[in-house]
Amino acid sequence: MSKAIVVIPGDGIGEEITAAAVAVLRRADHKHSLGLVFETHQAGGAALDLYGLPLPERTVAAARQADAILLGAVGGPKWDAVQPELRPEKAILGLRKALGLYANLRPIRVPASLSEYSPLKPEIVSDIDILIVRELTGGIYFGDHCEATVIDGVEKAWDIEVYSVPEVSRIVALACQAATLRRGRVVSVDKANVLASSRLWRRTAEQAAEKYAGVTLSHMYVDNCAMQLALAPKNFDVIVTSNLFGDILSDEAAVLGGSIGMMPSASLGEGPGLYEPIHGSAPDIAGKGIANPVGAILSAAMLLRHSLTAETAAVSIERAVDKVLADGYRTADLYRPGLTEVSTEDMARLIERNI
Ligand code: ATP
Ligand code: MG
Repeated sequence: MSKAIVVIPGDGIGEEITAAAVAVLRRADHKHSLGLVFETHQAGGAALDLYGLPLPERTVAAARQADAILLGAVGGPKWDAVQPELRPEKAILGLRKALGLYANLRPIRVPASLSEYSPLKPEIVSDIDILIVRELTGGIYFGDHCEATVIDGVEKAWDIEVYSVPEVSRIVALACQAATLRRGRVVSVDKANVLASSRLWRRTAEQAAEKYAGVTLSHMYVDNCAMQLALAPKNFDVIVTSNLFGDILSDEAAVLGGSIGMMPSASLGEGPGLYEPIHGSAPDIAGKGIANPVGAILSAAMLLRHSLTAETAAVSIERAVDKVLADGYRTADLYRPGLTEVSTEDMARLIERNI
């Protein structure tokens, strides 16, 4: 049975890095008989130029029908003057909404060969392997907001955090599911000593995790988690948390690895998942053939794991990436004397060869 992958290159380096990821997926398909079929669609600035809209209906329709979507990056200075409703970044929000994507997954893996790029000591970050699961559609970003209002002569504003039991239940279940493919430890992060929404979160998380026999759930306050991520990141397996806390913690965690070009992400919901590197369209290096394709390639591995349940093929890509890095091959962003500098395409070819 075939699996439809919609590829949305987007803007800037998007084209180069998605081409690299598709090449690696084709090789994985050849080795593991996954039946992948690729279909390219436009979104972001590229779509704006072609169709006058950052997210054309035909792209949404194709994404809805797909088994998974692989996205490059959208945006760039070319579209800086575009009116707010038509900005290229609107394409991501539109896709998230159209696909009901409520979970954002960010793995932070630092193979020993990359530990020297971290701002932390190599012995602290070497071999860390964390998965952050962030709730994406609820919480304080989507609660009632009150812009500055004068009450009794004092200007005030507020934002309300709301979480429901079903919202917390589904995100924690998803984190537990992901943990069964890993080391089986989930840390739920909240601020239950202060926030009512966090107390509901904690109680609901307990219930949701009961169904997963092989998974152990523990709880941590967000302030302590921020500290532990810098002090002892190796102690974490899966972290699950709210929209606001996840926003902050995933950026903190992304810095641990020290190399933005290497980091993948997945956004999951009830339908097809969306997979993209965490970096932007990097217009400063677009079209030069020097972009690091590893973030996109590891996103492709996540696609196989989470949307196609092809764990073996996903691991084969991740091992191939580790091997090529351990052999000393680097794109320009990570090049240092004594290592071998390669182009975007060469990096992809080396990874293909190691699958
Ligand atoms: P966003 O589009 O999310 O707002 P941004 O414009 O802040 O992101 P990026 O587009 O991610 O940032 O680029 C930040 C810097 O990192 C740039 O100098 C860019 O060249 C570099 N960079 C980003 N991704 C890569 C990559 N895959 N390979 C090499 N360098 C990269
Ligand atoms: Mg950018």
